[in-house]
Amino acid sequence: MIKVKKTNYRIDKFCSLNLLQNIYLRTMMKIEHIGIAVKDLEVSNELFRKLLGKPAYKEESVESEAVKTSFFEIGESKIELLEAMNENSAIAKYLNKNREGIHHIAFAVENLEKEIQRLKNDGFEFINEIPKKGADNKLVVFLHPKSTNGVLVELCSDEK
Ligand code: ZN
Repeated sequence: MIKVKKTNYRIDKFCSLNLLQNIYLRTMMKIEHIGIAVKDLEVSNELFRKLLGKPAYKEESVESEAVKTSFFEIGESKIELLEAMNENSAIAKYLNKNREGIHHIAFAVENLEKEIQRLKNDGFEFINEIPKKGADNKLVVFLHPKSTNGVLVELCSDEK
């Protein structure tokens, strides 16, 4: 009896809530990728090949978003390059107002629905809260930058 109490106490004292959440609830797990808006995918593929010392491991078009993407693996995370396929693409609109550069940060989550609910309860606003098919076999949602310090945040989980 005393032993059990002692164990509970140790968990309370030495594990932060965040750590427990990551272990048991598997919320935000890691930075899945950083999305970079580019004007010319071919030119930037070559640039990032030189920078990272290896080529993109895949290229993929996402018709629904009108973007052409390429992916580079870097440790447990990835770099996603995004080129607009036409002027209606969010990337084209972004590049009309901004230079090429970091466009969004994507976090891997295990349970997208639960995570959307958790963040909604905390007052975060979403651009889309119904998951849609993204590149690299992921289901994705985006949080509105106005509720995340100006950073466009993507949550993604593996498509089942
Ligand atoms: Zn992304």
